[in-house]
Amino acid sequence: MTEKNKPSESLSSGNAQKGNQSSLRLSTLTQAQLKTLIVQAKVQCKGGELPTYIPLLAKADPSWIAVQVQRIQGEKIAVGDIGCSFPLMSVIKPFVLLFLLEKLGSEAVFYRVGREASDQPFNSLAQLQADRGKPRNPMINSGAIALAGRLPGKDGASCCETLRQWLNQRSHSQLVLDEAMLQSVRSLPNERNHAIANLLAASGYLDHPEIALDTYNHVCCLSGTVRDLASLGMLLVQGSNMISPQHRCTVNDILITCGLYQASSRFAVEVGLPTKSGVSGAMVSVVPSQGAIACYSPALDEMGNSLAGLFIVQQLAQGLELSGLG
Ligand code: GLU
Repeated sequence: MTEKNKPSESLSSGNAQKGNQSSLRLSTLTQAQLKTLIVQAKVQCKGGELPTYIPLLAKADPSWIAVQVQRIQGEKIAVGDIGCSFPLMSVIKPFVLLFLLEKLGSEAVFYRVGREASDQPFNSLAQLQADRGKPRNPMINSGAIALAGRLPGKDGASCCETLRQWLNQRSHSQLVLDEAMLQSVRSLPNERNHAIANLLAASGYLDHPEIALDTYNHVCCLSGTVRDLASLGMLLVQGSNMISPQHRCTVNDILITCGLYQASSRFAVEVGLPTKSGVSGAMVSVVPSQGAIACYSPALDEMGNSLAGLFIVQQLAQGLELSGLG
């Protein structure tokens, strides 16, 4: 364990003890502790890159950090730049999966996409070729584009709107489509995603590649604050009677092994919380039976995960003993 990964003193001392009594350890976290963690993240998480292939993402301020923790028991806590609004990008992928599981059922969904981990980059064409055109999982672009093609609607905008309304209604979030971000996504050709959509169509996993790709671009531009993201995360936490427990578990299981690009397996071992990140710097973690942690900080590590987001969730998971795996 590196110095950076050691659980923060301020968390590991008091809360774990309380946790043994209540077993709902996220509920013991205080606003002051979360504030301290943000200060530490600012010191520890220097450097990091902003993605340039979506020009508007490169305009974010890399020093922004916002965190919201929402608990089944206990109030919400939010600290940092909580007014920042950001596009979810790949963080929307588990919620596309959840929507389709609820609407179409597991068999129809997993006919089009697998549930195996991939150690290739999120937009790998080689992985899709190696798998003979069947996407390996719903958290990489090939799987998400294949599933975007199953959202109901006549075009990208209407498919995205159906998903947006469903998510806002079920989670009480206020996601909006960021039109400027969508324009920015479209401003540079994304040849890799085009090639993925075409191969999916050629191998029979996609009917209308152009619409599916446009839908995928739209849903990646659904935007909100950490408050909205934490509310979305709560859909994956036990206790929501809006979602079938079986579908919720399916999404969480896939997130454990596939949620953080090539860092997924390392994070699963070290942290053990279902988590999804996106290239905007958004990140959401599910703490089963306890709550959700939403982070936003746009500076990314070399795999595309938010540096501060990873640090904060790692500290919380270790300091409060949140992982059910230990
Ligand atoms: N729209 C982005 C892309 O396909 C999302 C990527 C991500 O957040 O991982 O490149």
